Amino acid sequence: MKCPTHKTDMQATDTKFGKRFACSLCDMVSWNGNTPTDQKTREARMEAHEAFDAIWKTGIMSRAKAYRVLAGEMMRPRAEVHMAQFSYDECQAVIRFAEELFDG
Ligand SMILES: [Zn+2]
Repeated sequence: MKCPTHKTDMQATDTKFGKRFACSLCDMVSWNGNTPTDQKTREARMEAHEAFDAIWKTGIMSRAKAYRVLAGEMMRPRAEVHMAQFSYDECQAVIRFAEELFDG
């Protein structure tokens, strides 16, 4: 596993969640060989997840419908809408989507 920024080998550590690869030069981290992400993106994903969960937890719409509406909003097939794979910008789009629902 190489850091996408530095092209250097990332250091592997065994954790109870699986294998964690970290770059020694920046904050890129990869879990179990998945695409490495930086701290900013990881935090945005957590925020997006919370914002999205709030939509169906408050009962504005069902979880399934919330995913369908979000997919339409992002012009992506439902199967590709996974918070864990979103880029920083896509996470911001999810957060805006949730905010607009609550404002409207
Ligand atoms: Zn790096």
